[in-house]
Amino acid sequence: MLIEQKRHLLNPVARPDRVMVRGKGSELWDDAGRRYLDFVQGWAVNALGHCPDEIAGALARQSTTLVNASPAYHNECELALASRVAALSSMSRVFFCNSGAEANEGAIKLARKWGTLHRDGAYEIVTAVNSFHGRTLATMAASGKPAFEGLFPPAMPGFVKVPFGDADAVRRAIHSKTVAILVEPIQGEAGVVVPEAGYLGKLREIADAHDVLFMVDEVQTGIGRTGTMFAHQHDRVAVDVMTLGKGLGGGVPLAATVASERASCFSPGEQGGTFNGNPLMTAVGLAVVDAVAKPGFLESVRTHGELLRESLASLGAQSGIVEVRGRGLLVAARLDMARAESVRDAAFERGLLINAPRPDTLRFMPALNVTELEIAEMIDVLARVLAER
Ligand SMILES: *Cc1c(COP(=O)(O)O)cnc(C)c1O
Repeated sequence: MLIEQKRHLLNPVARPDRVMVRGKGSELWDDAGRRYLDFVQGWAVNALGHCPDEIAGALARQSTTLVNASPAYHNECELALASRVAALSSMSRVFFCNSGAEANEGAIKLARKWGTLHRDGAYEIVTAVNSFHGRTLATMAASGKPAFEGLFPPAMPGFVKVPFGDADAVRRAIHSKTVAILVEPIQGEAGVVVPEAGYLGKLREIADAHDVLFMVDEVQTGIGRTGTMFAHQHDRVAVDVMTLGKGLGGGVPLAATVASERASCFSPGEQGGTFNGNPLMTAVGLAVVDAVAKPGFLESVRTHGELLRESLASLGAQSGIVEVRGRGLLVAARLDMARAESVRDAAFERGLLINAPRPDTLRFMPALNVTELEIAEMIDVLARVLAER
């Protein structure tokens, strides 16, 4: 049996003994032919759902045109996607890489370089409690994820954590060695924690007052997930550095460190990577970004997000859902008890994929083109699972 080969995997991740073999849109099938309605979508990655024509077409075309020209040479897909992301973000410089963690590593390096050049060697970055920025050593140190504490010592120095959503705490944490503030506009892995309106604007003011960089990790919230192209655009604030991942590649490994002219200070040789900006992945990124930027697409993310939140809320407290939060199609429901994992597992057995980021919280991150019918089916299955308490 296929599943017995799992003993060859190095990483001990607890997952169900099923093997996924095929997907289309919001549906996924395992090797026994069972169908799942997918509200996880590769961890908020498959922006256009499973195997969309846009990605299939881009991969097919590009795989017979040019797969990797080498990072030593320009290629047209990288150039086209960089100018597209620059235009959409009002920032001028883009570095493509392969994962959100790598994009954040790039942002951390950029901030430290900027501190060396402009702030007398300042290097410390203020981040948030319960934040998640990745699994490399630097991004683990930057993360405020309690489960990371004490792992793989010694931790990389240079990060200080303050409560998320508290601008005054950020202000108090800044001193002469501080070079940047780094937050997620909405904390995703922490369970879709939305800060109060005005939080990002206050951080912008604090960054300006102390001459430090304001950096946002939009790996989860970027590329339309919250109903605007980038989540910080809801607040109409400018940022100095933004990182992208997940949705940017629509399912393939593609991420980016995006910087304003003021922040972009790498000299040749200071940042790079063998696969970075390769035409195969950037061709896919271009197809995804073009689809999300199409007239009406983001509006439909907002209306479907509203429908999803209203439908969850309408299940009511008697279902066990006591709070619904989120923005666009990044949504969470808090339960009255710490039973999110058992709800997730029961939903799985009924062919519904959802995620449990906290013991009492379910998270929903469907394809951005999820339909009303699919939302209704999800609610229907979830209602039955919640009733089986
Ligand atoms: C997923 C995620 C990352 C890490 O991205 P990887 O591609 O898994 O390295 C970083 N930041 C945020 C906010 C994320 O959601």
